[in-house]
Amino acid sequence: MLRSTKIVATLGPASSDAETLERMLRAGVDVVRLNFSHGTAEDHLKRAALLRSLCEKTGRTVGIMVDLQGPKIRIGKFREGRVTLKAGDTFILDATCTEGDASRVGIDYPELPQDVRPGDILLLDDGKLRLVAETVGATEVCCRVQAGGVLSNNKGINRQGGGLTAPALTSKDMDDIKVAAQLRADYLAVSFPKSGRDMYLARELLRAAGGSSLLIAKIERAEAVVPAALDDILQACDGIMVARGDLAVEVGDASVPALQKRMIRAAREQNRITITATQMMESMIASPVPTRAEVSDVANAVLDGTDAVMLSAESASGLYPVETIESMHRICVEAEKSASTTLDREFLDRVFTRVDQSIAMAALFTAYHLKVKAIVALTQSGSTALWMSRLNCGVPIYALTTESAARYRMSLFRDVFPLMIGYTGHDREALLEEAEGVLLASGVVEVGDIIVVSFGEPIGKAGGTNTMKIVKVGEHRKP
Ligand code: PEP
Repeated sequence: MLRSTKIVATLGPASSDAETLERMLRAGVDVVRLNFSHGTAEDHLKRAALLRSLCEKTGRTVGIMVDLQGPKIRIGKFREGRVTLKAGDTFILDATCTEGDASRVGIDYPELPQDVRPGDILLLDDGKLRLVAETVGATEVCCRVQAGGVLSNNKGINRQGGGLTAPALTSKDMDDIKVAAQLRADYLAVSFPKSGRDMYLARELLRAAGGSSLLIAKIERAEAVVPAALDDILQACDGIMVARGDLAVEVGDASVPALQKRMIRAAREQNRITITATQMMESMIASPVPTRAEVSDVANAVLDGTDAVMLSAESASGLYPVETIESMHRICVEAEKSASTTLDREFLDRVFTRVDQSIAMAALFTAYHLKVKAIVALTQSGSTALWMSRLNCGVPIYALTTESAARYRMSLFRDVFPLMIGYTGHDREALLEEAEGVLLASGVVEVGDIIVVSFGEPIGKAGGTNTMKIVKVGEHRKP
C-alpha cells in the first residue's frame, strides 16, 4: 500500500543491529535519524554504513538525518546519581558545583545566571520538575521548588517563555557537522535555531566540510515561533521539524497543536518540508499497541499536511521498534484517505517566474484535472518533485533521477517516490521508453495508464525542466 507521509525513526540501542534495522526498513521507515546528543562519531558512522548496506540489500531508499545536539542546557551530575526534590525546597543551580546533592547541582552553561531574573520559571527534565528563581548571583541561581520529583544526572533546563542566549551551534556541533559531511548525511537538523543566521552559519560550515545535506531547522525555542523569526528561519532552511518536546516546555504544551498547524502551513507555502516530532507513539516504548490519543495525534499531523512523522525513544530504545513503524504506517495510510485533495484557490492566484517551477505546477494542475495514474518528474536535483509535492493533488509523484544523492534527498518529501533511471543519452523517445520501463518494473503503472511526465530538453544536457508531456504507458515501448 502506497503511503504518502514519510516515517522518520531515530536509531539507538534498540535498533542498531542488522536484523532489527532490516525489519524496520521492510516495515516502511523512510529516513533514519542519528541523534548526536548520544553516542560517538564512530557509533554513527557504523550505523550509517549498516543502513547503506541494507538499502542495497532491500532496494529501499532510506535517507539519513544527522540531528545535532545544540545548546541544550543541562544540569551536572549528583553524588548519588539522582535526588528527590519536594515542593517548597530550596535548590541552587550553581555553575561552580562539581558534585550535586539535594541542595545544589552544577550547570553546563556558566552564563545561565546572566540570562535569569528573579521570578523566572525554570523547567527541568522536559518540564517534569518546576523551579521559580528567587535570587540570582554571579555564578548561581537560587530557586524554590514548585513541582518536585526525582531529578537525575544531566537533565535539561528550559526557561519558560524562552530567552536563554546560548548560541545555536556549539563547538561540538561544529565538529559533528564534519562527521555529517563524512557520512554523506541527506539531512542535517540544527537544534534550537533562533534566526535564519543560525541556519546560514550551519550551511556554510557544512559546505566547507564538503557536505550537501538539506538543512532542517528544529523549531523548539519560543523566539523561533514569532512569525517574523519563523519566516526568517524558513527562508534560510530546506525544512523544519516541529520539535514538540522542547517547544512545549518553552511555550506551554497547550499552545503546541495550533503552532504545529501554523508552522506546517507556512512551510508548505514556502516550498519547505516539515517533520512532526516527539511523543507521537510514546506508549509504544513499552506497549505493542498505541493509545487512541496517539493514533489521533499521528492522523492529525497527516491531515495538517506534514511531510513526515518522527519516532524518538520509541525506535531508539523501546521494546517494539518494528511494530511502532507498522502501526504508524497503518495510521498514515488510513488518514491519507480522508485528506483533502483540492488545489486551493491561493494556488490559482500564485505567480511563478521560473520556467521549471511553472512546468512543475502545470504538470500538477493537469494531473489533478485529468485524474491521471501518476506524475513522473525526471529530475536531477529533486526540486521539481518538491514543488509538485507542496500541493496535495492526490496523484503520486514518481521522481526519476540518475543522481543517487537526489534519490535519497527526496526520501522525506510527502507524495514523492524516488526511483533511479540509468538513461544518459540524448534521445527523447529512448528516455521516455526507459522511464516507462522503470515504472512498469516497479509495478506502479500498467500498460494503458495515462501519466504526466515532466523533463528538460534538450535531453542529456544539464538545465532545468522545461517540458511536460501526457503519455499513455506503453506508447514508447518497442514491440
Ligand atoms: C524535541 O525537543 O521535540 C526534539 C525533537 O528534540 P530532541 O529530541 O533533540 O530533544
